[in-house]
This record gives sequence, C-alpha cells and structure tokens, in this order.
Amino acid sequence: MTTKLSERRAAAIARGVGVTTQIFAEKALNAELWDSEGRRYIDFASGIAVLNTGHRHPKVIDAVKEQIDRFTHTCHQVVPYENYVALAERLNALVPGKGPKKTVFVTTGAEAVENAVKIARSATGRSAVIAFSGGFHGRTFMGMALTGKVAPYKLSFGSMPGDVFHAPFPVPLHGISVEQSLAALDRLFKADVDPARVAAIILEPVQGEGGFYEAPRDFMRRLREVCDKHGILLIADEVQTGFARTGKMLAMEHHDVAPDLTTMAKSLAGGFPLSAVTGRADIMDGPAAGGLGGTYGGSPIGIAAAHAVLDVIEEEGLCDRANLLGSRLKQSLESLRDDVPEIIDVRGPGFMNAVEFNDVKSGEPSPDFANRVRVKALEKGLILLTCGVYGNVIRFLSPITIQDEVFSEALGILGSSIREARA
Ligand code: PMP
Repeated sequence: MTTKLSERRAAAIARGVGVTTQIFAEKALNAELWDSEGRRYIDFASGIAVLNTGHRHPKVIDAVKEQIDRFTHTCHQVVPYENYVALAERLNALVPGKGPKKTVFVTTGAEAVENAVKIARSATGRSAVIAFSGGFHGRTFMGMALTGKVAPYKLSFGSMPGDVFHAPFPVPLHGISVEQSLAALDRLFKADVDPARVAAIILEPVQGEGGFYEAPRDFMRRLREVCDKHGILLIADEVQTGFARTGKMLAMEHHDVAPDLTTMAKSLAGGFPLSAVTGRADIMDGPAAGGLGGTYGGSPIGIAAAHAVLDVIEEEGLCDRANLLGSRLKQSLESLRDDVPEIIDVRGPGFMNAVEFNDVKSGEPSPDFANRVRVKALEKGLILLTCGVYGNVIRFLSPITIQDEVFSEALGILGSSIREARA
C-alpha cells in the first residue's frame, strides 16, 4: 500500500517537493506517529521543529476546537479579533529587548523573514541585507537569497534579489573562528557594501538547517556592536530555535544582547500555520498602513493554538524539561564515542542537539554515515532528520513533551542505529 502511495505521490507531486521518508502519516499523538500501514514510529523530526508541544497536545486541540466553533476567518485587516491583539501583547512582553515592542502576524517562517526585511528597509531607508553562510531563511525569493546554502535551495532558480551579502558564520569545528567571521564582515564593508547602506544583519542564534551550530556569545555581542556602530538592525531568525527548544523561550535569551527584530514560526502554534515578526515599536511602525499583512496572516485558528502553546510551555515547565532531555541525549551520544570514532561532535543548547560524523579514513564530513544512521533508525521506528552544509549531521527535534519511557526507547534505537551504521 505504501509503495502504491509513493508511486501516486511521485506521479502527482512536483519533484521539487522532496521527501525524506516513504511512509504516509495516518495519525499522531505527542511523540508517536502511526503510518498508513499501522506501523508505529517515534517522531524526532516534529514536522521540522514545529511540535515542541507534541502532536495534538490536548490543550492546543481544545483551543482550536473552541475557535472553530466561533469563527475561522475574517481576515484581520478587515475585521480584527481580540486574540490576535492579546497574542501580540504576549510576544511583545516575552521577546528579548527593552522598550516598547510591536508585532505583525503572517503565516510561514519565510513570510516572517520577508516581512522582517521589509520592515528593516522601511525603517532605515536602506536596502542591503547581510546574512551568513550556512544560514537558512526560507524558500521565497528573499528567504532563498538570504539562505547561505546553494544546493538544493538555490539551484536552477536564476538570479537572486540584489543587495544581499553573506559573511562566514563562525564554526570553530570547521576552522572559522569568531575573529575570522568578524574580519570577513569588515572586508565586506570595505570591498562590497558601504555599511551606511545596510538595513539589517540577519542570523539564526543556532543555525538550524545549516547544522545546529550555536552563535558564540562573544560573536553575538560583537555583532551587536557592529550593528550599533553603523546604524544596522539586528534580526534574530528564531523560526527553528524558538519556544523552549534551546532551554529558553527564545534562544536570544542565552545572549546578553537583544535583537531589534525577531522572526518566529514553527513551534509558535504547535502544528498550525502562524508566524510573527516582533520588534522595537519605532522600527515596526516603519511601513505605512496596508504595507504589511496578508489574507491569512494571523489566522484566528493559528492564534488560538499559539495562546495554548505558550500556556503549555509555562504550565509544563518545558524550558527546564528541554534542558533535562537534552543532557540525557547528549550523555547517551557521548557514551558511544569510544566505539564510534565517526562521531566528531555532540552539541547544542537545551534540547536543540546534534551529532556530527566524519569519515574515519579521510577525516572528511560523512553525509553517507549520517544517512545510514537515519535509514537504520527509520527501519527500527525512529524518525530522524539530517542537516548541515555537508549533510553529515543528525539533528534531534523530538517533542519536548515526550514521555520518559518513549524517550528511553528512542535513545535505545538511536544507539543501536549509530553502532550498526559502522558495519
Ligand atoms: N528560518 C528558519 C531559521 C528556518 O529553519 C525555516 C524553516 N526550516 C524558515 C526560516 C522558513 O520557514 P517556513 O518553511 O515556514 O517558510
């Protein structure tokens, strides 16, 4: 049956929509998913970082049902609703940064990034934007231009929007220090773009698709200084890092400096499409009325879900739980290192963890090894995702609400899959 579905899928769906598994979802609850053949899986992908509160958290589902029974769509630009305003107030209060803040809701992560750039350009009257190698910011034209990875995201799509520049992201493991990254930024200002023309610098506090590399504290502080010196806005793309994943509500809370604008999506609404840009009120008010928004932006259903998600994170202490689960996961991976020399790094704040593999003989990144682990784990019922500029990283995005016994079971599968990938 699955084969048939896979064939129908391949015949009916554009090949550009890639898939990492050939299973088809039938139902899911918290960290477990059942496929169309009744087979059970533990889901360590969470729909790519969307389900920090798990599949169908009862509180999220109740909030959505309650909303559906009242109204599902008015378009906030036509007839606004209270829960949109209330969620903006909540995000304004929780996003790092002093002073008054404002929010706009849209629908996807890429759309949040697009809007953050629009807002930054409008508020500064400048047009250039700087992003980092390995960064991922979405599949729309500006998101794609900002993304610092060519294959597959930019292949065959022609010229990118102008005035986008890249600096190397500091990854000491791959030979790029904080000093080198900042020096490259300085060279960019001398060789490519006048800093007085730069509207914003955008980065992920922990790179997601790019390999789960955390921006060093020192780097973030000095980047903030560069921004302040030149009147450049700092945009934190928290689409993947947000909502307790790193052990804080937002990853920028790990830093002693704040961004001017923050993009959020994915786990914000626990499985319903919603994204947001929150930032300094004076900047957010740059665009004229009518310049921001969209038909579905801030859908009442997504908004209702997001309120419940924020409640659940607080009530269930998910930031603390992320730290606890992350340290168990990292310990378990570290314990394999003696037997699995392919493991070159185990990392990540809170429960935003990853393991990176090299080929033992060549010392080069080994996407093959990472892929073998992923395939073995899937055979044993654990859904994993790879990531990284070299594709040699397994990232872990399990729901933070995962039950202890299911988590232990997953760790067992993970350990044996990594060992067997050696054979
Ligand atoms: N920014 C980051 C950091 C992301 O991880 C992603 C999605 N992986 C996006 C933007 C784009 O989000 P979406 O797929 O919802 O458009």
